[in-house]
Amino acid sequence: MNKLKKVIIPASFIALSIALYSCSKSSTEDTTVTPSTGTATTGVSITSVVKSKYMSAVTISTSDNSITLKSNGTPDHVSPYWGTGAALYETPYTGQNLNPGKIATQNYSMTLPTNPTEASTKEATVLGPIGMALNGVPIYNDREGGNVPVDSGVLSAFDRAGAHPGPSNTYHYHCTGDFTGNDNANLIGFLRDGFPIYARKDADGTYPSNLDANGGHVGTTADFSTPIYHYHASNTAYLGSRFYLLKTGSYFGTKGTFTN
Ligand SMILES: [Zn+2]
Ligand SMILES: [Zn+2]
Repeated sequence: MNKLKKVIIPASFIALSIALYSCSKSSTEDTTVTPSTGTATTGVSITSVVKSKYMSAVTISTSDNSITLKSNGTPDHVSPYWGTGAALYETPYTGQNLNPGKIATQNYSMTLPTNPTEASTKEATVLGPIGMALNGVPIYNDREGGNVPVDSGVLSAFDRAGAHPGPSNTYHYHCTGDFTGNDNANLIGFLRDGFPIYARKDADGTYPSNLDANGGHVGTTADFSTPIYHYHASNTAYLGSRFYLLKTGSYFGTKGTFTN
């Protein structure tokens, strides 16, 4: 194989070149981020961002075409669902109606494509883990048991993180919250199709106005200087609550596995 040293790449081939040489790194990246739209939805490697942004509680391993993330699913922040006496326990906020669950250790494993691509047929997300936040807690969509939308009763059980435990004490995020991202441009995690999910804003501080039916669009982010498809949390307060749903609709790409 030829050794590549200095290569000048036409701009139109930047996305392709990153796909082919994803192991090479530029040390002189411009840190000024201007969200832009484009068509380079595929061929962007997520490996370096996954490795640098996931917290140490998440174990990362890579193979040729996939990345596997393992976590125990417990959050790094306070919640009433830790239970009284736990180090990270906090009392419920006024009006919160705790469900009977608790935060308990799980054995999660999520596998992502290294270079996520758009699926020709978009698969709807369903009840259960659809992604993993940077701290290893699963991300769920807008569904609850019976695959029905989260209702106001369920909402009232959410902690300040927009989360609650499900059956078998599987704590998970449905919404934005005080610890992952909310009215900002925080990277929240990655969904099972390998595309990143951000909070309500883009990197320039504006609210995206061109999200598709799956809650995403193509553009640069603070983490990706090459335009990439990425999801955003909803910018509509869900059922008039303090919470904003993280995800509705379908996967843009093809989902990988998520096991417990
Ligand atoms: Zn739930
Ligand atoms: Zn965006």
